Amino acid sequence: MTGTDPFQVFDAHVHVGHWRTPDFAGRDSDLADVTRVLRSCGVTGALVMPTDSGDNDALLREVVRHRGTPGAAPALFFAAWVRPDDDSLTDFLARNLSHVSALKIHPSFNRLPITDPAYAPFLALAERRRLPVVVHCGRWREVAGWEKAVEVAERHPDIPIVLSHMGGDSPTLVLGAARAIRERALSNALLGTESIREYWLVAQALDLVGPERLVFGSDHNLNHPASFLAVIEALDLAPAERALILGGNARRLLGAAGKSVR
Ligand SMILES: [Zn+2]
Repeated sequence: MTGTDPFQVFDAHVHVGHWRTPDFAGRDSDLADVTRVLRSCGVTGALVMPTDSGDNDALLREVVRHRGTPGAAPALFFAAWVRPDDDSLTDFLARNLSHVSALKIHPSFNRLPITDPAYAPFLALAERRRLPVVVHCGRWREVAGWEKAVEVAERHPDIPIVLSHMGGDSPTLVLGAARAIRERALSNALLGTESIREYWLVAQALDLVGPERLVFGSDHNLNHPASFLAVIEALDLAPAERALILGGNARRLLGAAGKSVR
């Protein structure tokens, strides 16, 4: 690919495939659909991950094929879906490590908080390879509370931890997570902006943690990226801050040589 910087507008939270949970009403879209939507929003790069189907093999194959297509856009980075009870996962990671740019952990679907010892081998891998870990945070506090993700970030300063939904999709959760990151000076904990609609809340969190700690994401194929790009644009940021949130921070996390699927 020539010319376009993958991190000009980078969507750091994109799902591809079919959702099994009845909550998402059978939502399904393939990589061709997803890349069409991303391109239509001017997204130049994305971190793509499976759905709760957890089918790493199928998605990675599609991503590799996409990367082999001349002129294919956007640039894609792959995050492996981590379910500790997935018997094929250790083997998948061993075989495909050079293609894996990040790990995705969804404690709610796994019914297992990220602090559970079952994740230890995967966190150790992330630590060794400096792989960012994208962790779903939500309202089910004892399993998916931001407190658990912050605890892991504190224990593993070499793993970049991205708290999805900025720590949980509600103002009190977002501000709680932002305050904890600030008070504990956690330079490896970042907040992913996916699905946060309240632009004023993003602005408050930004005041607390600074522009180096926010990472733009949309949670496509559930959300449309345009909705959440609009939230970032509504902040009326200085160009340097906007560039960090829309891609500069993702570049820092993912941009190391050899991590993208080529
Ligand atoms: Zn998601």
